[in-house]
Amino acid sequence: MHDPNCLFCKIIAGQIPSQKVYEDEDIYAFHDIHPWAPVHFLMVPKKHVASMAQVGPEHAPVLGRMMALAPQLALEQGCNPYPEGGFRIVVNTGAEGGQEIHHLHVHVMGGPRPWLKG
Ligand code: ADP
Repeated sequence: MHDPNCLFCKIIAGQIPSQKVYEDEDIYAFHDIHPWAPVHFLMVPKKHVASMAQVGPEHAPVLGRMMALAPQLALEQGCNPYPEGGFRIVVNTGAEGGQEIHHLHVHVMGGPRPWLKG
């Protein structure tokens, strides 16, 4: 469950510092160290799963809870309310999907993005 070579497993275990956004028995959320948006945090399952490519029916409960939690955390972190505000959810998967850290993580990004308007 804990991969000693995995950066995000080390963050979950508190061996590497992070700015925590949320934690429960199954889920850890923390600020991205190189944010792409005014609000940018990552949500990860505590049990190591390399990517969406390894996901099976046994992961549905934790993934469902992460999706259901994302809107609340997004607002708490400063995203503006829907529909004028909102957020973007991205899960990069595999090399061609742009994944660099091989512990499944959900990017939640939001906040004012004037370059998307007009
Ligand atoms: P990409 O780097 O292309 O976004 P991923 O989807 O695998 O690929 O995302 C990994 C994310 O983890 C990156 O946004 C990166 O900034 C973030 N990150 C890397 N190291 C840390 C860290 N120690 N604490 C918080 N976020 C981190």
